[in-house]
Amino acid sequence: MPDIPDIMLNNGQQIAQLGFGVFLIPPPLTEAAVAQALQAGYRHIDTAEMYGNEAEVGQAISKSGLSRGEVFVTTKLSNDAHRPDDARRAFDGSLKALGFDYVDLFLIHWPLPTRYDGDFVSTWGTLEEFYRDGRARSIGVSNFQPHHLRRIHTEGELTPAVNQIEINPYLTQDEVRGFCADHEIAVEGWSPLGRGSVLADPTVADIARRYGKTSAQVVLRWHIERGDVVFPKSVTPARIRENVDIFDFELTGEDVEAISALNRSQRTGPDPDTFAG
Ligand code: NAD
Repeated sequence: MPDIPDIMLNNGQQIAQLGFGVFLIPPPLTEAAVAQALQAGYRHIDTAEMYGNEAEVGQAISKSGLSRGEVFVTTKLSNDAHRPDDARRAFDGSLKALGFDYVDLFLIHWPLPTRYDGDFVSTWGTLEEFYRDGRARSIGVSNFQPHHLRRIHTEGELTPAVNQIEINPYLTQDEVRGFCADHEIAVEGWSPLGRGSVLADPTVADIARRYGKTSAQVVLRWHIERGDVVFPKSVTPARIRENVDIFDFELTGEDVEAISALNRSQRTGPDPDTFAG
């Protein structure tokens, strides 16, 4: 079994630094993919109400023979449910779909500054309720820019445990990561492989050749050495195993720097300042 390191969140909870993401895995394929991931040693699954596959994630975990406490599960609030009463209903719905009485981490999926009068602070206040009643062991945000986080920091009561943002070698996100480091917010990098777009990069491919590893393994290792949490997605059993097989080597500081230098500040996903869900 791979020896996946844990990271301690600002409330003392531990999260496995490498997990398995299920965005764009069609519901009929999700249970098998999550079962493969659990067999390969992943113990952290990242889903969302908007992925439409929470029920299949829950099924795979309940049939796996692992206890609920052995798997860290994150889900996220739908963009259509930011108003407090809607958020309460949505959170109940996510727990029901998963078949759980708690989630390990619940996130506001997008800040949506152009909707709901830009009031993501009230939405955050509702997540604080879920944290206090124990049904969300940790709460956090996703796709928040420093100016969004600053509002949560001054107007909210709790600091988010994590901020989940798009990160890959072409989008290193130094500014948001710096803000999070200064405020004890753990950073999770979504689409850590740039949905495959960074794997043909000649610098990455050269480094991979030198270590006798694949480009995907080198990119995932780069994230791990920068201290971020990642959860690559795949439905291919060999790739699911390949992506977790990254704990038997380390990149030199020079190689980490060379990959970081590929930054082009190029998003593959939407811009959080304008995205309306
Ligand atoms: P990813 O960067 O993990 O790329 C996945 C794709 O890369 C796969 O579909 C496959 O084509 C390819 N791939 C995976 N492993 C490979 C390997 N070993 N070799 C070659 N190709 C390989 O992209 P993603 O799925 O978009 O992101 C991962 C997770 O991040 C998602 O599943 C989801 O959980 C999360 N996410 C969150 C948000 C958000 O807004 N919070 C947005 C997107 C994704």
